[in-house]
Amino acid sequence: MDEGNLFEVRNLTKIFPVFGGVFLKKVGEVKAVDNVEFDIREGEILGLVGESGCGKSTVGRLLLRLIDATSGSITYQGKNLLDYSLGDMKDLRKEIQMVFQDPFSSLNPRISVGSTIADPLVALKVLERKDIAPRVKELMELVGLDPALAKKYPHEFSGGDRQRIGIATALAVGPKFVFFDEPVSALDVSAQAQILNLVKFARDDLHITVLIVAHNLSVVEYVSDRVAVMYLGNIVEVARTEILYRSPEHPYTKALMSAIPSVDPDVARSRKEIILQGEIPSPLNAPSGCKFHTRCPGFIGDICVHEEPKLVDIGDSHQVACHLMTA
Ligand code: SF4
Repeated sequence: MDEGNLFEVRNLTKIFPVFGGVFLKKVGEVKAVDNVEFDIREGEILGLVGESGCGKSTVGRLLLRLIDATSGSITYQGKNLLDYSLGDMKDLRKEIQMVFQDPFSSLNPRISVGSTIADPLVALKVLERKDIAPRVKELMELVGLDPALAKKYPHEFSGGDRQRIGIATALAVGPKFVFFDEPVSALDVSAQAQILNLVKFARDDLHITVLIVAHNLSVVEYVSDRVAVMYLGNIVEVARTEILYRSPEHPYTKALMSAIPSVDPDVARSRKEIILQGEIPSPLNAPSGCKFHTRCPGFIGDICVHEEPKLVDIGDSHQVACHLMTA
């Protein structure tokens, strides 16, 4: 394992069976994550973007073993997580945590905010009972909530504050890694900015490594050190954020970036939006070769239809999976 990497993911694949008909027989399968390879470096925020259904949230859930991988490996601090027993995973919950997308449904409406935040401390036996209330107070202050509100219930808080409660709960056990799954997609713009600043705070002040999944490219650009782009279960490009947003190489990433609205009128004027033809194919019947070939403006012939492009390093830790890079 490379020094400096917290996670190394290799050939990670997740296949979901599809059931249909009167007897609910298996009628097919979907490769939600297909031979994915990437690293997460210690202390960074890695963003994962792509259209809905591309497999980005599934990748995060595989990392936390909320679902089991079909094949591949997830090396965390030198050990393959896929070999961990349930007991090992319980211990690991102190180190790897998750913030869910929907702060409205991820909190139990019958449990007070203070008890919600205390729950992982109790369940994972992290602190003695006498130390739990002070820790809850500290966590509420840390995420910008008034500790005097600890006895209130989730419905008494705004969406942004509910997401703060989710973050305080994830931070309670002092994790090394947090997976944020679309943490701001259900929030208004001002609450979004505050939550994203908390994500940065987690990296800068608490030295937590972060994977953040979002479909909003501007959100990912704002918080991430590096960004990986997914299309139909494959990672097609990975680079440092400024490189990916200014000089994307993969035709799909170029199309995504061309559609980002700019507040700078000069940039907006000079930018030509690339409109992709056709719909995103069904993952039930994904195209052969490069899965993007049915929509690619840069299509270069048979090789795209028959040969799956591998991620190749084109320098400066910029990786691209496209035959154009090696043609
Ligand atoms: Fe387009 Fe071919 Fe590159 Fe795929 S491999 S992105 S189809 S040029």
